[in-house]
Amino acid sequence: MIRNALRLGKIGGIEIGLDWSWFVVFVLVTWTLSAHLFPMEYRWSPGVYWLTGLLTSLLFFASVLAHELGHSVVALRTGLPVRSITLFLFGGVAQIAREPSRPSQEFLIAIAGPLVSVALGALFGLLALAAPFHSPLAALAGWLSRINFLLALFNLLPGFPMDGGRVLRAALWGSTGDLLKATRIASWTGRGIAYLIMLAGVGLAFLLGDWLSGLWFVLIGLFLENAASTSYQQLALRESLHRHRAGELLRPVQDLLAVPPELPLEELVHRYILRTGRRCYPVVDASGRLLGIVTLHHVKEIPRGVWASRTVGETMTPLEQVVRVRSDTPLDALLEQMSVDGVNQVLVVEDGRLLGLVSRDQLVEFLRTRAELGI
Ligand SMILES: [Zn+2]
Repeated sequence: MIRNALRLGKIGGIEIGLDWSWFVVFVLVTWTLSAHLFPMEYRWSPGVYWLTGLLTSLLFFASVLAHELGHSVVALRTGLPVRSITLFLFGGVAQIAREPSRPSQEFLIAIAGPLVSVALGALFGLLALAAPFHSPLAALAGWLSRINFLLALFNLLPGFPMDGGRVLRAALWGSTGDLLKATRIASWTGRGIAYLIMLAGVGLAFLLGDWLSGLWFVLIGLFLENAASTSYQQLALRESLHRHRAGELLRPVQDLLAVPPELPLEELVHRYILRTGRRCYPVVDASGRLLGIVTLHHVKEIPRGVWASRTVGETMTPLEQVVRVRSDTPLDALLEQMSVDGVNQVLVVEDGRLLGLVSRDQLVEFLRTRAELGI
């Protein structure tokens, strides 16, 4: 489920992963604490600086994980499946499988993370007060307390995709009833905040000469700007797909080029695929019965040397395994189903009768044409 990430295991069915970029931050945080911050403030032996730094750094990432688990637990409780949590360069991200369906649900999921961070901030604060003055434990707890409060504060900035942006979106969604408009405004403020963070980074670098922090701010700003614009585009795309049905796109049965099951793949390629440019064919026997479908994708899986001896019937996806939808299925649900099942085409069936076929290419073509026409 988690791509390019080191899998740590599962907590309550949620897969926990570390992206390679996490190690960069881990080394940076440990080094900053052990070689700079702690030696500036405290008088310990060198080994203690590094041991405390390492432990603080690990607990910092445990805190980020706890923040994401906060979001995840509430998502699960309100009925949204959570696939995984990945820790990476800019913190953590919980992969929630679906968007919230109600503003209140979105609000609760969004606020849960910062609440966990505030609770951790308070807890570490108390620990710092209870620990012996200037001890490694006091230093560790003190830093973790500050960083958790900071984490909560930063995440509550009211711009998408930060938690505060989601709270803002939930409020706008609740008051206007228009999710798309709410997302548009929340992603505008998100982009605004991202530009301010980048500007602050430039200021830090050029005015104060703090190049490392400056670069860091610019990178965070770029990341947030990108996340804010893509999340809006994705939603806009989904909304526009939602207004259309599978029936509008389907290629009717009579327009499909049917092939017999005994046709060798070699001939399918040369007589059909290369000549017509079509990528998907129903396989129909002599009596006109539909047996399955064969696609360009199937052919690509078979080594070229056996194309002459392998038939379409041996290669096709049999009818009972082809994904079927109704003609009134909205296109966003169709695309989601294709992704979940990992297929490139579905059959459109109504009352047990085959109406036609919709392929991913058709969906892409449909979107491209609409974009070209500006509708
Ligand atoms: Zn969060």
